[in-house]
Amino acid sequence: MPLVSMRQLLDEAAKGGYGVGAFNVNDMEQIQAIMGAAKETNSPVIIQASRGARQFAQDKYLFHLILAAAELNPEIPIAMHQDHGNSFETCKSAIELGYTSVMMDGSLKEDGKTPATFEENVAVTKKVVDFAHERGVTVEGEIGVLGGVEDGHGAGGTGLEHITDPDQAVEFAELTGVDALAIAIGTSHGAYKFSKKPDGSVLKMDVLIAIHKRLPNTHLVMHGSSSVPKDLQDVINKYGGKLKETWGVPVEEIQLGIRNGVRKVNVDTDNRLAMTGAIRKVLWETPEKFDPRDYMKPAREAMQKVVSLRMAQFGQAGHAGDYKAVTIAEIAKGYKDGSLSTKPLVAAR
Ligand SMILES: [Zn+2]
Repeated sequence: MPLVSMRQLLDEAAKGGYGVGAFNVNDMEQIQAIMGAAKETNSPVIIQASRGARQFAQDKYLFHLILAAAELNPEIPIAMHQDHGNSFETCKSAIELGYTSVMMDGSLKEDGKTPATFEENVAVTKKVVDFAHERGVTVEGEIGVLGGVEDGHGAGGTGLEHITDPDQAVEFAELTGVDALAIAIGTSHGAYKFSKKPDGSVLKMDVLIAIHKRLPNTHLVMHGSSSVPKDLQDVINKYGGKLKETWGVPVEEIQLGIRNGVRKVNVDTDNRLAMTGAIRKVLWETPEKFDPRDYMKPAREAMQKVVSLRMAQFGQAGHAGDYKAVTIAEIAKGYKDGSLSTKPLVAAR
């Protein structure tokens, strides 16, 4: 299948009542692991690259690797997404390269660290929406500020400092016309999200539910949604690693989110942990090995296992064949003629 619009993919997920994992990539093995999982579970999928990833791999390498994934898996709908665009220029460059979706994270200023004002966020996000929709490209915005830092992007903190205000979420969706909305409910980027199993004092699922009640048709996005399972931490520490004890977002909380409007679930850390654990194990147990394939193959397999599990847990498994790709040109027409709505349905408080 050619790359599909993320809007189409999320609209279909809403119809089916499931969530779609958005998995970060930096290299070929991660893309192969995701596609192996998508094939194994017959899942539509979002492959996303951060600014850091685009820099690490170089744009063209990453772009063509993802195109190869689409070419080799014609039965799988794939959206190619820019994760955490920090500026109009970053999003524009992704769109011009051929990404079918971008995130404009206007919750932070262009430095990717300092929280922006509501007005600044609306202005830059709206500018990206206008540019993107004209070209059939999907836009995810963010309101509220997530915790932690990943790939040099993030405000730091625990994630509780700038929880999304439901009224502001409504206003933001109305003013920008974004296709998907990332909200801050206490999650953080990176491995160190919570210092104990999270409860309602640190993970604000009630805020998510309140936002969904006000914006029942808006596709919500959960960032920082790795579950950071103990078994993956244990493998790393067993083979010489030094991870501190930490907790992620329990899968059952993500599933509660999916029952309340979450359509895109960002997962990166779990895959990093799986790969690193597998590599450590090989190097620890067989220090005489030096062919990268000897550890990259188990690393790829370990990541595929985690991704397959998440695809089943998020409910996207089995849905790859539900629809045919609408061309990006058709999607652009849809935005223009209004058949693809950018006016959110707002319910009374
Ligand atoms: Zn994020």
